Amino acid sequence: MNYYNSETIIYHNGAFVKAADTKVDLYGQSLHYGYSVFEGIRSYKTANGATKIFKPVEHFDRLKASAEAIYLPYTYHSQELIDATYEVLKRNNQQDAYIRPVVYAPANMSFAPNTESFIVIETWEMAPFLGDKLLKVVTSSFQRPNAKAFKIHAKAAGHYVNSIMASQEAKRKGFDEALLLDIYDHIAEGPGANMFFEKDGVLHTPQLGNILPGITRATVFEICNELNIPVVEGSYTIDQLKEADSAFFCGTAAEVIGWESIDDTVFPKAWKNTLGAKVQQAYTNLVHEKNDSSK
Ligand code: PMP
Repeated sequence: MNYYNSETIIYHNGAFVKAADTKVDLYGQSLHYGYSVFEGIRSYKTANGATKIFKPVEHFDRLKASAEAIYLPYTYHSQELIDATYEVLKRNNQQDAYIRPVVYAPANMSFAPNTESFIVIETWEMAPFLGDKLLKVVTSSFQRPNAKAFKIHAKAAGHYVNSIMASQEAKRKGFDEALLLDIYDHIAEGPGANMFFEKDGVLHTPQLGNILPGITRATVFEICNELNIPVVEGSYTIDQLKEADSAFFCGTAAEVIGWESIDDTVFPKAWKNTLGAKVQQAYTNLVHEKNDSSK
């Protein structure tokens, strides 16, 4: 995938510069130890043709919270970064895009605290997802990191070694994606998405504590509230999931994507008849600022 070309503009420490001309320090603590934080955000071309970043305040506030959680100095303001992101999108002539801010540490081979950090905001084209493909999901042999070993609510780069291993293992086994359990063998989340399942007209999702508190997950709660879909948080086992009527992942990149199966168990409900499909439609309308319920 070509994320950038010789003309692509990024925001780097207060300046709009060409990605191809930018240097990072090969002696950086972030590169050596995975000690950085990041966000995954999207912008959409909305129904009236404007470019809109979806929930930018929530994402940049989480970036700050992630940095503070791992003791990385953070001197940026959400609104300043939102303005900078719109400018990057404009300069790159992008509307439907994925936005990746990273806050990283200076050269520091020790574990001593840093007195400064750096920020980059990169964007690349990402077409809206159509949502018709269903995923074959497999229970991962990897657990999500122990919440007493990592600040699992922070979006810290190092956590994603766990995600990459789980996702690659799933694909090697012939599945589309992994589902990770927590240290108590309860369902946690996917490598880069939260999950919900439907049982007897109710949506269920793993409670907070051992998962990333997703902004899309919070949006699904808002949608359910609006559509009068009952939704509850709890602790669930794989056996409970295998009795479910349907299931889906949700996340900024994944949006809302239905599952065909978990391990060898195929979900009985046709996706188009599920609560997930209703949520998916409402989510698409929301990010595109479309008021009608037709696609
Ligand atoms: N869990 C993990 C581990 C993730 O990486 C993501 C993607 N940020 C999510 C859940 C979903 O979060 P969000 O809806 O905020 O994108």
